[in-house]
Amino acid sequence: MHPPDDPYPDALARIIQARIRGDEATALASVTQIRFIPQEKKKQRWPAISVIARVYARDHYQCRYCGERVILTAVMRLVSRLYPEQFPYHPNWKADSTHPAFVSRSATLDHVHPIAGGGDPTALDNLVTACWNCNRRKGDLDLTELNWPLVEPRGKNWKGLTDLFRPLWEASGRPKLSADDSAWMNAVKNSSPTCTNNTTSEREHHP
Ligand SMILES: [Zn+2]
Repeated sequence: MHPPDDPYPDALARIIQARIRGDEATALASVTQIRFIPQEKKKQRWPAISVIARVYARDHYQCRYCGERVILTAVMRLVSRLYPEQFPYHPNWKADSTHPAFVSRSATLDHVHPIAGGGDPTALDNLVTACWNCNRRKGDLDLTELNWPLVEPRGKNWKGLTDLFRPLWEASGRPKLSADDSAWMNAVKNSSPTCTNNTTSEREHHP
């Protein structure tokens, strides 16, 4: 096997020795020589939050694969802010510090025809609400490969707790929300399925 060919052993020794003898300028110069610049993530075309909110509302916050009710994650994040001990949340969903409801009940967006297979990334008729588990199980497969039918939403009254989002936020003294979560709060207000306004403005900001 070919041994790794990089300068790291000597470079790290130089950095550490310089730092130990208090020569910060050399340490910094040496660490800069081996600086790692993370690659920017490849940009994927992903619908705006306002569009995703419309998909969830259209599907009455029910997973189109298993039919179960889902909850807007932003609402659960707010509950977590209020009850961090009882209902913990970790931004990366670390299993040991995230309440299982996030995994089992979070609404996620899925592409019926996967993008990897040429499916349209933003067309409304290719977007469905899915629970996180179904989304993960489906992966990049097509429904025909899985023999999964698309489930029609059963009731029309479930709103994924979005109807309680703003009232809870107001009752909690309007804590500062992340940019995403405040975008969600605006988006769910404008995405009731009875609202026929298809020109929802894009004033919310998101990455
Ligand atoms: Zn599901």
